[in-house]
Amino acid sequence: MKEAVVVKHTGSHYLLSSLPRWELFPAVLRGKIRLKDSSATNPVAVGDIVQYEDGDPAAIVKILPRKNYIIRRSTNLSRQSHIIAANVDCAFIVVTLAFPQVKLAFLDRLLLTCEVYGVKPVIVLNKIDIIRGEFAAEFEDSLQEFHQIYEAAGYTILELSAKTGEGIEGLREHCKGKISLFSGVSGVGKSSLIKALDPKLEPRTADISSVHLQGRHTTTFYEMYPLELAPDASSALAYIIDTPGIRGFGLVDLKPEEIALYFPEMLSLSSDCRFTPCTHTHEPHCAVKEAVDAGELSALRYNSYLGMLEEYTKYRK
Ligand code: GDP
Ligand code: ZN
Repeated sequence: MKEAVVVKHTGSHYLLSSLPRWELFPAVLRGKIRLKDSSATNPVAVGDIVQYEDGDPAAIVKILPRKNYIIRRSTNLSRQSHIIAANVDCAFIVVTLAFPQVKLAFLDRLLLTCEVYGVKPVIVLNKIDIIRGEFAAEFEDSLQEFHQIYEAAGYTILELSAKTGEGIEGLREHCKGKISLFSGVSGVGKSSLIKALDPKLEPRTADISSVHLQGRHTTTFYEMYPLELAPDASSALAYIIDTPGIRGFGLVDLKPEEIALYFPEMLSLSSDCRFTPCTHTHEPHCAVKEAVDAGELSALRYNSYLGMLEEYTKYRK
């Protein structure tokens, strides 16, 4: 059976391509393909590897097991979700220290979601021309603190500037041979970055954040783009999936006591807590709390953790 990757979903049909070749052809679903136990409004997502039968359009007959996927929920409490992308190798989370200033609790939530989904997150710190240039004195402390917090947690931070091109080569290296998701709130320079990577790319900048997910009728579509496509379409350096208008990924079903497992720097400390599991809140002899008190674990990260713990505890009631 032939296999291809879903690169776009237009509502009435899907566009497939047999990567690494970039030759799109339309396909429809044969019959009702439903994923077991899935509450997703879209059974097939961008990034899915499917088996198909030739035809015009081709017929998708099977979705191969996903290595991971990222979802979005219409609301935190909604049981229904929309799969943004499947089989993603890497998620680039684009943030800025100013214009707009990143909200760390928000970044921590995205990082946690990536950890839970098994997608490697890379933090992209854009507009570094401002932070290390004109306003260097003003941002020196927050830049250093940002590095300290997230490097201690084990994350890669790519400093770059879509404006000057600084660091773009490094980003391109990270993208190489992968299918990557680009995520970031409006204004951080995500579209500028994608264009800096490949001027031929014209990602949609349309704000679709006001689009609501209602029932099965969703008009929110994502698509994959080839980066540095060879003239004969025989290969591309990388493939990227833009997520315009997405403020955050959907909450995942986690038990409150599981949250700390996805804060890498807390997880490594927790083996020294007296109690297992330890929520790192009220328990005596908690290695995480002791590390926060000693200034060895970021109080900001710990506060993000407490915020999520509270929310998940409420959510599950
Ligand atoms: P998006 O909403 O995340 O797609 O952001 P855009 O790419 O539209 O950029 C938002 C604004 O930030 C625009 O005015 C860009 O010119 C500006 N911008 C983007 N990247 C940089 C950068 O690296 N340095 C500076 N100084 N400005 C940037
Ligand atoms: Zn503990």
